[in-house]
Amino acid sequence: MSKAEASLMNRIVSLSKRRGFIYQASEIYGGLGGFWDFGPLGVQLKNNLRDAWWHSMVECPPMGPDGKPLSIVGLDSSIIQHPRTWQASGHAEGFADMMVDCRETKSRYRADHVICARYLSADAKISGYISGQDGDNTKDQISKKADKLGRKKGIKFDVDLSELIPLTSIPVENHGRVIGPDASKAGTLTDPRAFNLMFESHYGVLQTDETKVYLRPETAQGIFLQYKNILDTSRVRPPFGVAQVGKSFRNEVTPRNFIFRSREFEQMEMEFFCPPEDGMMWYEFWVNERMRWWEEVAGCKKENLFAHVIPEDEIAHYSKGTTDIEYRWPFTEPNFGELEGVAYRTDYDLKQHAKFSKTKLDYIDQESKERYVPHVVEPASGLTRGVLLLLCEAYQYDESRPSPEWLKIKPSLAPTKLGIFPLMNKDGMPELAEKLYMDLRQDYTCQYDPKQSIGKRYARMDEAGTPYCITVDGETLKDQAVTVRDRDTASQERVAIDKVREYVGAKLS
Ligand code: ATP
Repeated sequence: MSKAEASLMNRIVSLSKRRGFIYQASEIYGGLGGFWDFGPLGVQLKNNLRDAWWHSMVECPPMGPDGKPLSIVGLDSSIIQHPRTWQASGHAEGFADMMVDCRETKSRYRADHVICARYLSADAKISGYISGQDGDNTKDQISKKADKLGRKKGIKFDVDLSELIPLTSIPVENHGRVIGPDASKAGTLTDPRAFNLMFESHYGVLQTDETKVYLRPETAQGIFLQYKNILDTSRVRPPFGVAQVGKSFRNEVTPRNFIFRSREFEQMEMEFFCPPEDGMMWYEFWVNERMRWWEEVAGCKKENLFAHVIPEDEIAHYSKGTTDIEYRWPFTEPNFGELEGVAYRTDYDLKQHAKFSKTKLDYIDQESKERYVPHVVEPASGLTRGVLLLLCEAYQYDESRPSPEWLKIKPSLAPTKLGIFPLMNKDGMPELAEKLYMDLRQDYTCQYDPKQSIGKRYARMDEAGTPYCITVDGETLKDQAVTVRDRDTASQERVAIDKVREYVGAKLS
């Protein structure tokens, strides 16, 4: 298959590997499902997205409705917390997906990801469901499977692909008529059962139930646990926010779609504490603000973002409103999939932790002497998923370019800002280019590269999403000027060496 024919997602995955953005974790041992490593360019891109979020949240928070900057502080809490944390938060009990196992193939599936289509045999003697796994080619999977099974059994299956039904919507008493996604006969799937997604470990030397701990499945709870210390030791007063970026772990049953759903990932979460009567107002504020941020700061096209208001009967019992900010991923297209959730969580978390820890977590307003438990609005997004969005948004394919595949990453987020080259590795060019590199690398991530043809070097930089390349050529020694090439237009401009810093500064700001 040629590059142009491969699916967009496959092309993004292979470019990510080839250029050192993202590798499979433990690859030399055959990999480990749901774990990924960020290579030299990937870690830089991820850090840039993280820093942009941190800047917009903590260092320069948005303006509130009163025209004054909001008050948001940072936190870095432990991955492992007291196990009671997860009882209070509900994760110990409720953080589970419904799973089914296949007795025939020993595969395990998320019940809502087993997608079924009704079938009848041509002589209408047997009927039931043929299933496949949820994805962009589910119908294809099911019809190929029907053909294959039909050939093997000498029957013609008449499959109704017009209606696909998740296993969870089929009454359990009928599951015996479902042929599992990889099975060759019906009735091999177990009844759905809950499977807790938290990774377990132990602290200290003894491995008993008392020493059992969990790797956090979200960063948010660490914020609730330190809410009181933050109130007591800093000058924040409601409304205020606490922001945190860090790793979270979920033993996802079906990790997939590259880094979209992995077992170890990073989140960027902020809990905004406010007087109860203002909760709804702040919820709407944060939905709008986060939509704006993905568009203006992360550079996402407006038409690829969607604010999905979750219907009341689907949101968590304690929430008074949840909106998922969704992105049109290559594997959900034309539909959208979650990028960030903004939830109005009321006073649920603080009240739960107050109850379980027997600590007062209410707030007393010094002026009005009013005592209350603040309400919380939470914008919770995935940093790892955000990196995937940047790659999907940036990916371009154009046969007429030095590299047909290239990344149009927003310059402020690009892993490398400048490529600096001597046109040829002789005649004083490398010395000058190196001097420029030594000067500019103080302020910008630069890459110095003296090897290969200039076309190949441009191509490499385009694939890495580097917005500008600066070339020192034979004329530079005479006119004290260099060529600056723009990644997006491939146009070149002659700029005096002593004006280069100013020139790229204006472009990259
Ligand atoms: P999903 O429905 O996709 O499983 P969720 O609703 O469980 O996500 P939240 O608990 O709201 O997700 O977590 C907030 C954000 O963390 C998500 O919007 C997503 O960006 C990110 N996230 C959650 N689970 C994963 C994962 N397994 N891999 C990568 N990112 C994740």
